[in-house]
Amino acid sequence: MKSSIEKRENQTQGYKIQVFNNNIIDDFIQRFEEEINARPSVALLFEELWALNQPFVFKQYQRILSSPYIDSDWVNQMLVRNLANQRLNEVVNAEVERISKNLDYMQETLNKYDANLQEYEKIAKREGKTANRKKVLDQCRTEKYRTTALTSYGINIPSHVNTYRDLDLTAEALNRQTQMGSEWSSYDLANRRARLQGLPEPYTKKQWIWTNRGETTRHKSNDGQTVDFYDYFKIINDKTGRVDMMLYPHDPNASYENSWICYCQMRAF
Ligand SMILES: [Zn+2]
Repeated sequence: MKSSIEKRENQTQGYKIQVFNNNIIDDFIQRFEEEINARPSVALLFEELWALNQPFVFKQYQRILSSPYIDSDWVNQMLVRNLANQRLNEVVNAEVERISKNLDYMQETLNKYDANLQEYEKIAKREGKTANRKKVLDQCRTEKYRTTALTSYGINIPSHVNTYRDLDLTAEALNRQTQMGSEWSSYDLANRRARLQGLPEPYTKKQWIWTNRGETTRHKSNDGQTVDFYDYFKIINDKTGRVDMMLYPHDPNASYENSWICYCQMRAF
């Protein structure tokens, strides 16, 4: 239940970020013909994405203060705010990088090939606010260049060097990381607090929980794995066999195969 609510929250946030990305791309493409450089500065992108992500990230970290083991005194409030700011910067930097790469891709394509921009506008409108703009642009290349695309010098850039990615998926993964990172921090802070007061740590163990939701089928064999709180889980991807040592589900230090949009949970006790 918890993970399906989280999933919905992430997707709503992902939707907003994707619409933001697409509006910037559409504006850039439409004004390309008029030879106006409509590329927003990195500083502006950063500022706007910061405002878009801030409520979500802060809400996640604010939850730490409602833990029964953590005082909501000013020291902890400051600590939590610092953790949230740090996380927010990471999230926004990753999104700025992704949007910049998407703009690079569009610019490169428009410089090299002819595209019917009226057609682009029409298709983009029809496909909707979150539709992948690379696919829209691919559909409105002129016949001449479609033929060119069949040659080895064509526009068919191999997928591994193609920089355009749907930002909603990126946002969903970043948000999931934010949720799990803040959850781990809440347990860690409660332990640190107890140590400072000379009390036993409230959390000494943690357990990996496979939820059977969303993209989580790959982690079934890890269900119930229990380790000491500050140890790593040894997590195997059931489909690919890839093994990572992970502090918590969605630990960003693990490989893409084990950390990307995983809806596993963790229980500390
Ligand atoms: Zn998982």
